[in-house]
Amino acid sequence: MSVTAISVWNNCLAFIEDNIQPQAFKTWFLPIKAVRLQENALSIQVPSKFFYEWLEEHYVKLLKVALRKELGPNAKLVYIIRMENKYGNKEPFTEKIPSSNRSTMAPQELDVPITSKNPELKNPFVIPGIRNIKIESQLNPNYNFENFLEGDSNRLARSAGMAVANKPGGTSFNPLLVFGGVGLGKTHLAHAIGVEIKDKYPERTVLYISAEKFTQQYIESVKKNTRNDFIHFYQLIDVLIIDDVQFLSGKSGTQDVFFHIFNHLHQNGKQVILTSDKAPVDMQDIEQRLLSRFKWGLSAELQTPDYETRVSILKNKLYRDGVEMPDEIVDHVAKNIKSNIRELEGAIISLIAQSSFNKREVTLELAQQVVEKFVKNTKREVSIDYIQKVVSDYFEMDVATLQSKTRKRHIVQARQLAMFFAKKFTKASLASIGSQIGKRDHATVLHACKTVDNLAETDKQFRKYIEDLNKKFT
Ligand code: ADP
Ligand code: MG
Repeated sequence: MSVTAISVWNNCLAFIEDNIQPQAFKTWFLPIKAVRLQENALSIQVPSKFFYEWLEEHYVKLLKVALRKELGPNAKLVYIIRMENKYGNKEPFTEKIPSSNRSTMAPQELDVPITSKNPELKNPFVIPGIRNIKIESQLNPNYNFENFLEGDSNRLARSAGMAVANKPGGTSFNPLLVFGGVGLGKTHLAHAIGVEIKDKYPERTVLYISAEKFTQQYIESVKKNTRNDFIHFYQLIDVLIIDDVQFLSGKSGTQDVFFHIFNHLHQNGKQVILTSDKAPVDMQDIEQRLLSRFKWGLSAELQTPDYETRVSILKNKLYRDGVEMPDEIVDHVAKNIKSNIRELEGAIISLIAQSSFNKREVTLELAQQVVEKFVKNTKREVSIDYIQKVVSDYFEMDVATLQSKTRKRHIVQARQLAMFFAKKFTKASLASIGSQIGKRDHATVLHACKTVDNLAETDKQFRKYIEDLNKKFT
């Protein structure tokens, strides 16, 4: 077999994949294309200068080892930077030899005319009539990077956030979309990025806003006939942070206006940071053109924290509050509260409160009571979305497949299981379960639940599915 650039690179990839986090692998290595092999020099194509800098900064050792395994001790790596700009045109190649005199990336200077010629610009944050152009950032200084503890579950999102904070608008992470389930730190991280930017670049206008408030402001502006002012206001911002963009789903007017604001900011090198409880692929009722914008930058997931991270978050919280607690108790809380960080904090706060109100020591017994209460509450909070995600993951399909109209047996079964667990773990009605799982009616859900009950009794393999899945929800 002849050795080609592609086969060499594929071997390198296999090695790299074994040595880094799957999310990092996906983000940093899958987009690379091997283009040329000349003697012992492999040329790889990367999508941006930033990408190249990131690889050099974080993965140069790993790349070296991988390449030397394939091409011997004199292996060389050449980067080809091929930028795809937002219109899909290719920019000319730039070649980079790693570790050569690296010139830092000059921020893209764009000559932009002032957006608003309107001196009466209305700031939706300000009571009408009072002229005030100074924009308050609405950031919470308590949500900063310092107290956003790092762990495997958030490393990618956290580093991407830091990179954005260092060069707002100047990285390929634009927009930066941070997604993940409830209580995993999206809002905290979004604020932290803003706070850091304000700290580094006090002259930049940073604005944090929830998608819900953004929507309200927009509706208000339509009512008052000030839609243009609303748009102009948002176009003045240097760093726009919108929290929980899934809230925009189904709201086409707000999506439309956001689309225009987004394009304007992006074209002018301004930074957009978004958070969402779902990955872009799983967002429903969001216009395609917006979704494709979300994918221009980086989508970084916040995953559920592992045990070590949970312990360090708890210890850090206790430390900041000046409370001491035996390790055994911290350990008990961290072992039992796994689903999200908000709950974790809630449990520890409740422990501290109980011990001080009742003036008693925090004992393991008290910790057990508190944890039990929290775990019970969490159980009730399993959402239908979450159930569909877990069942799809378990059967290695995506949620869209699970919801599709197909009659393929394994997909039908997965769908029925999702319905069964939705009935079991949520308070939703049959009709509501049906409409959320692939737009079915209540009779279909009822039938699904009966089928699952029957199969549980007769089919051993199926029973195993139920048991496995049950564990994931309890
Ligand atoms: P989300 O917006 O994803 O629902 P939040 O950002 O509100 O979650 O986080 C929930 C709580 O957990 C907050 O009090 C936040 O400070 C805390 N938290 C989340 N991630 C971390 C972390 N990595 N380190 C420390 N605290 C965290
Ligand atoms: Mg939030």
